[in-house]
Amino acid sequence: MRNSVITFPVPENEPVKTYLKGSPERVALEAELEHQSNIVVDIPIIIGGKEIRTGITGKVTCPHDHKHVLASYHKVTEKEVKMAIDAAMEARKIWANTDWTVRAAIMLKMAELLATKYRPIINAANMLGQSKNIYQAEIDSACETVDFFRYNVHYASKLYGMQPKNGVGVLNHTEFRPLEGFVLAVTPFNFTSIASNLCMTPILMGNVAVWKPSTTALLSNYYLMKLYKEAGLPDGVVNFLPGSGALIGKICTESHYFAGFHFTGSTATFKTLWQAACANLDNYISYPRIVGETGGKDFIFVHPTADTKAVATAAFCGAYEYQGQKCSAASRMYIPKSMWPAVLEDMKAMAKEVKMGDVKDPVNYINAVIDEASFDKCAEYINYAKNSKDAKVVMGGNCDKSVGYFVEPTVIETSDPHFKSMEEEIFGPILTVYPYDDDKVEETVKLCDETSPYGLTGSVFAQDRLAAERISEQLQNAAGNFYINDKPTGAVVGLQPFGGARASGTDDKAGGEFNLIRWVTPRVVKETLVSPTDYRYSYLK
Ligand code: NAD
Repeated sequence: MRNSVITFPVPENEPVKTYLKGSPERVALEAELEHQSNIVVDIPIIIGGKEIRTGITGKVTCPHDHKHVLASYHKVTEKEVKMAIDAAMEARKIWANTDWTVRAAIMLKMAELLATKYRPIINAANMLGQSKNIYQAEIDSACETVDFFRYNVHYASKLYGMQPKNGVGVLNHTEFRPLEGFVLAVTPFNFTSIASNLCMTPILMGNVAVWKPSTTALLSNYYLMKLYKEAGLPDGVVNFLPGSGALIGKICTESHYFAGFHFTGSTATFKTLWQAACANLDNYISYPRIVGETGGKDFIFVHPTADTKAVATAAFCGAYEYQGQKCSAASRMYIPKSMWPAVLEDMKAMAKEVKMGDVKDPVNYINAVIDEASFDKCAEYINYAKNSKDAKVVMGGNCDKSVGYFVEPTVIETSDPHFKSMEEEIFGPILTVYPYDDDKVEETVKLCDETSPYGLTGSVFAQDRLAAERISEQLQNAAGNFYINDKPTGAVVGLQPFGGARASGTDDKAGGEFNLIRWVTPRVVKETLVSPTDYRYSYLK
């Protein structure tokens, strides 16, 4: 019993370490990279804390060196998915009734373990398995993941503190119950932090989860499971199911106890899951909570008063960091014709300077795209542009998958604002640019707003602050995260809660307090201190 009111104040964001040559973090990371490069991990299914091996296996390889096998993993069949649902429902009996400050303490221990002992382990796995350079791994699998744990505890304390007023002779309170069932967490390859957060936000609020990790992020995700266990998370609260998304999605959405799903990934997969939930609606205890962040076609809009050097830097970093595989990556740019030659020249200078290759060599700013399907998709878009009369490839454009899935940072310039790569999400290091007549700002902003079905991120560059304000206003529905004179990537937990609307998702803002509300179903309790014993109102007496 805890006879205490505990509040958790706003945390500081986890500092990004420098990894300078010879620094303790660099030494530890290099040792871990070496270690993980020389072993093949056997990744089990984990249900109710037990490791299960079906013997139906797949391989985890390095995207930048695809012959290098990092791990083999066991795939679930229908039987294990059903076992995971049962294990989650069993664990729920205790977890849902555990004091929330104890759940919070477990989350904070996860943060501490990840900031210290697990930092090199999970960063190395993220680098090798998902092809991130040191910096990209550090800001994702270390800092952002730690921030999610710490900030969510603070947000939970605020949420639980939101209580109604008492009346005369009446006490009122709200109990923030977890959902009645289990949550299906379906997670993407590109952020280890998102993989962790999609399970851990509902779990902090007292829910239990069945977790479908991305097949191309299994190594780092498996180490997360080890971290959770070491932090004291009870068995069965999260159940780890590598295998077919279609199978896991189907069985979970058919369960009577399906309470909702927490999803990040492509728009197509999200719609499939939502439709499956609709088809089974009569079978559920409650209406399922559907929270999803999906694709984007994120833009940079350049006003004629913009600073060209700042635009070139934002376009380069926004489009090519982590090979353009951030949902927020800049993938279309609208720029005045008069400014484009200078910006392109600067971008070419940067492209000439950066190196592309293996993550273990820290000089490589660009690494590989995640897998062969993604590589082929990038190559197809580049070839399409090369063969089109409405576009030309003006930077990069070379692809090579002989060792790893390498795609050069590429710029497609087009005269057609509705060119295929101006509208469709590619998820690779390809930026399409539409140079517009300098005097057609208004019309081009309208084009920017109406061109793509998505509404995730976008930015405007202008030194004329009033012009930036006008454009921001006109583009208010085009992006859930909007930037003024900055690249459209790099949202930080607690500072820029993240998510988009339109086809980009339900905009429930991961890294902010709104997301937590989706994982509770409040019960309001009124207690009358002295119950009335006469039915008559005063005027009737
Ligand atoms: P994806 O849709 O291919 O996969 C996401 C997850 O869904 C994976 O775990 C996958 O195995 C699973 N899955 C696939 N088919 C399924 C099915 N039929 N039923 C159930 N699960 C299924 O996406 P991805 O390639 O991993 O990630 C890239 C996408 O994610 C991009 O579109 C990107 O924009 C988006 N993304 C969005 C955000 C955001 O916050 N909006 C963040 C990161 C990534």
